[in-house]
Amino acid sequence: MAAALIDGKAFAEALRARIGRAAAAFEAAAGRKPGLAVVLVGEDPASEVYVRSKSKALADAGMASFEYRLPADTPEPDLLARIAQLNADPQVDGILVQLPLPEGLDEHRVISTIDPEKDVDGFHVVNAGRLAVGERGIVPCTPLGCLMLLRDRLGDLSGREALVIGRSNIVGRPMAQLLVNADATVTVAHSRTRNLAEVVGRAEIVVAAVGRPEIVKGAWIRPGATVIDVGINRIVDGEGKGRLVGDVEFAKAREVAGAITPVPGGVGPMTIAVLLRNTLVAAYRHAGIALDEDTL
Ligand code: NAP
Repeated sequence: MAAALIDGKAFAEALRARIGRAAAAFEAAAGRKPGLAVVLVGEDPASEVYVRSKSKALADAGMASFEYRLPADTPEPDLLARIAQLNADPQVDGILVQLPLPEGLDEHRVISTIDPEKDVDGFHVVNAGRLAVGERGIVPCTPLGCLMLLRDRLGDLSGREALVIGRSNIVGRPMAQLLVNADATVTVAHSRTRNLAEVVGRAEIVVAAVGRPEIVKGAWIRPGATVIDVGINRIVDGEGKGRLVGDVEFAKAREVAGAITPVPGGVGPMTIAVLLRNTLVAAYRHAGIALDEDTL
């Protein structure tokens, strides 16, 4: 029997509806909308598209977005000064600096300047540290979205054999920590892993975040496993047409897995929805208004 499809698009839409209601409740209580400042340095076309879609998603959810567009040759002290100003701005609950930054700007220094309470991407070392020790902080959007899909599908993750392929700071590493915090038994694979096929074959949960088209073969998957494919890879097929594929060999994996996310339409739509969630949560915390964050 073919695996069930995990519909990230539908899940993200429902999440956005819940966020919209909670944003309206925030506005009624605080007298202002939750606000996210988005800082875009330079003119990277992909970043322009992301920033536009984030601003639209914020407006649709009843939140305010403040866009700051700075030239590619902005001196780092000017960028840091802008961030410091946003840190102090009471209307701003979240700050997002669109990555990658143009050459010459130190990403680590820039992210470190953001107030951790406003770091809605969850990339600040303080938030990474909170996640590592299991304290409440702000969690990176993509892995948190994957966890939500897993919980929705499987319920309690306690004791499950989970494999995360990839150890980047934005996906693999926080994903592994979220799964450990959810009491799963977690393995992390990466480019130095020996015999990936065997490691994949043991896992009840596979989260693939590699960035290589269909590197995870369908035949490796343990029957009945839940597969979350984070990879977004553009390939050109035999007829010269471009299309998106994940890190998992989808058609073959679907014959074996219990459930699987498609690419596109799986993890992708969750990332922006969780960014809205993180902004909303930051706004409630910032304003000191109670919110049951687990109901979002
Ligand atoms: P990244 O920073 O390039 O990290 C890739 C990871 O994969 C690294 O840890 C690397 O290991 C590991 N890796 C590379 N080759 C491998 C191999 N042959 N076997 C096992 N592991 C291998 O990428 P990322 O930022 O985490 O993103 C991963 C993918 O997710 C990309 O396709 C990206 O486009 C996608 N993504 C999607 C979303 C979304 O919204 N859906 C969001 C973010 C990213 P080493 O550490 O040893 O080098």
